[in-house]
Amino acid sequence: MRVAVAGAGIVGLTCAWWLAEAGYDVRVFDPAPGEGATYAAAGMLAPAGEAWFGEEDLLRLGLASAALWPAFGRRIGVRVARTGTVLAGFDAGDVAVLARAVSLLRSLEVPVSSVTEPVLSDRVAGTAFLPGDAHVNPRSVVEALLALLGDRVVRSPLPAAPAADVVVRCTGAAAHPSLRPVRGEILRVRCTDPPRHMVRGLVRGEPVYLVPRFDGEVVVGATSESLSDQPAGPTVGGVLRLLDAARSLVPSLDRAEVLEVLARDRPGSPDNGPLIGFTGAGELLAAGHGRGGVLLAPITAAAVLAHVAGDPPPPVVLPFSASRFQEVS
Ligand SMILES: Cc1cc2nc3c(=O)[nH]c(=O)nc-3n(C[C@H](O)[C@H](O)[C@H](O)COP(=O)(O)OP(=O)(O)OC[C@H]3O[C@@H](n4cnc5c(N)ncnc54)[C@H](O)[C@@H]3O)c2cc1C
Repeated sequence: MRVAVAGAGIVGLTCAWWLAEAGYDVRVFDPAPGEGATYAAAGMLAPAGEAWFGEEDLLRLGLASAALWPAFGRRIGVRVARTGTVLAGFDAGDVAVLARAVSLLRSLEVPVSSVTEPVLSDRVAGTAFLPGDAHVNPRSVVEALLALLGDRVVRSPLPAAPAADVVVRCTGAAAHPSLRPVRGEILRVRCTDPPRHMVRGLVRGEPVYLVPRFDGEVVVGATSESLSDQPAGPTVGGVLRLLDAARSLVPSLDRAEVLEVLARDRPGSPDNGPLIGFTGAGELLAAGHGRGGVLLAPITAAAVLAHVAGDPPPPVVLPFSASRFQEVS
């Protein structure tokens, strides 16, 4: 069976690799592989750190996908770093918000403990530790998948009439009318004393996270704006807010070297969950992964493979059907 995948972001490439491994004849079409939202992503595999009330199904989906990452990473030769996440509240109000998140996680039996993170400011009012969270470098994942897929990746848009039995649309926010772009601004800095763990903090209500890579590089992210009049690139206001909050949590960042500042659009859906499944005969959708496309890539690929093969998809994927917003309207 021939499968055409539109979009070579982390979702399309992972689906294509999963299908190719299962023996399908796959072609991936993208004029700019890996340069969409995937290029900016911090790469947190942090379902627990992202969890919030009303999004319990998304947490279960994230936990199921996180469990697939270690074997997936090994197969494609990409390191998965299981550093865990330190949740940090700067003042008493921030700690109260984090305490609610922790109580939700405990009610869902997600492990929460405590840890010492030496670079945190002693002004931080409270912390908790999520030992299960991990991270990858999404650009390394893209590089590895592009190499493994080789000439099955075609650097052009999906043709109007692709020679395929099934088309899988993974073109991010453009893939479906119910999706909208959610701008994210993010920085990469280099410092001599990076945090040992991922840090996800609230500083007087301002959210920020830090993700240490393996070489002293630290990712500082990320803003989240659905405004339509955003300039194409990063803004002074967004960068200031991120750096101010990050430096309040980790004062030694003051001496860090700024390596990169960039902005990309996340493919956002109305309920923050992805759309995965058939939208018509021979037409599959796998898009709208919002702030969790890196985390959710393996479970999405497993579901897409099941749909193509005519098997039932993993049960955790069922709340995320591609047609759920049409059903509601
Ligand atoms: C600042 C920031 C930080 C993030 N951090 C994290 C994180 O820590 N963890 C996490 O899990 N997620 C994170 N995300 C979210 C994650 O990046 C996205 O959910 C994910 O990249 C979505 O992947 P995608 O493949 O669907 O979309 P994209 O990466 O946007 O890829 C879509 C691709 O489709 C192509 N395309 C468009 N139109 C066509 C066409 N007609 N034909 C062919 N190709 C086409 C584009 O060129 C593009 O390459 C972050 C996002 C941002 C912006």
